[in-house]
Amino acid sequence: MPTGPVTRRTLARIALGGLTAAALPAAPAHADTGTPYYNAARRLAGRDPVLTAIATALHPDTEFPGEIPPPPPTRITDDLAVLSAGFVHAMALTTDRGIVLFDALKNPDDARTVIEPGLRSLGADPADITHIVITHGHYDHFGGAQYLADRHGARVLMSPADWDLVEADGHEHAPRRDTDITDGHRLHMGPTTIALHHTPGHTPGTVSALFDTRHRGRPHTAMLWGGTNPPAAPGRLRTYRDSIAAFRRRMHRAGADIELSNHPNDHGLQRMQALRTDPHAPNPFILGRHRTDRFMKVMDLMIQGRLADARA
Ligand SMILES: [Zn+2]
Repeated sequence: MPTGPVTRRTLARIALGGLTAAALPAAPAHADTGTPYYNAARRLAGRDPVLTAIATALHPDTEFPGEIPPPPPTRITDDLAVLSAGFVHAMALTTDRGIVLFDALKNPDDARTVIEPGLRSLGADPADITHIVITHGHYDHFGGAQYLADRHGARVLMSPADWDLVEADGHEHAPRRDTDITDGHRLHMGPTTIALHHTPGHTPGTVSALFDTRHRGRPHTAMLWGGTNPPAAPGRLRTYRDSIAAFRRRMHRAGADIELSNHPNDHGLQRMQALRTDPHAPNPFILGRHRTDRFMKVMDLMIQGRLADARA
C-alpha cells in the first residue's frame, strides 16, 4: 500500500482498485484475533469484486457451495483457455511448442468430457498437450492427468513434496510419478516462458505459476496461485504467508498483471461470463500490476488473520 505522500499517481492507483482515499486500510500492527486483519483486508478490497471475492474465500466463516454448474470453455486471452468442472478449473496455454495444461480436473471422465472437447471447441487439439503442470497433489487437480498423459504423450509435472503426498495418499486416479518441478523451474515453449515457483502452504508442495500470455496481440504476464484454502496449523500458516511474500516479489519482477485461480474464489466465473457475453469489452482478468499485487496483499492480510485466530 502507498504510505508516502498522496501523489496523483497514488490516487490513480487507488481509483483503479475501486478504493477511495478514505478507505485506505490501517493494517493492525499486532492483534490477538483475526478480525482486525479481516477488516483491513475488506477495506483494502473496497468495492473491487475480485479482491472482495478472495477476502471472502479466505474468511473462516465462509462455506463453499458443493456443486457449481460448469461454465462453457472460455478463452481468457489469445492463448489461454479455462476448461472448468465448476468448482475447479483447468487452464490451457497454447504455445508454439504445444499446449501446457495447468491442472487436470477430478478424474479421467472430466478429461474426456470437459478438457478434450473444450479444447477442440476452441480450435485447439488435445493431442498437442505436451506438459501437464499439477499445482498441488489433491484429486481435483490431478484426477485427469494420467489419462491425458497416456493418450497424448504429455509429461506430468508436480513438486517433489506433492509427488510424495500423492504417493502416500494412494488415490485411485493418482498419476504415476513423472517430472519434478524445482523451485523456479522454467518451461521454455518457443517464445513463451512459464516459471513455476514453490509456494507451500495449501499443501507442502503447492506450485504457483507466472507466464507470458498475449491478449489482442499485446504481451501480458499472468499469475496463477496454486492452492488457496489455508491450512489449520500455525506453522503451516506461517509457511503459507512466507510463500505469499516470496511469490509477490517474483510477480513484481515479472510484471504480473493478470490474476488467475484454479477455483472460483476470485470472481472468476463471473468474469468468464462477462468475456463470453462481450468479448470486446475490457478484459476483466487483466487487473494491471497494482491491482494484481493488491490481490496478494489482501491474501496476506487474510492469512495474518488466520494466524492470529490459530494462535488465540
Ligand atoms: Zn487443494
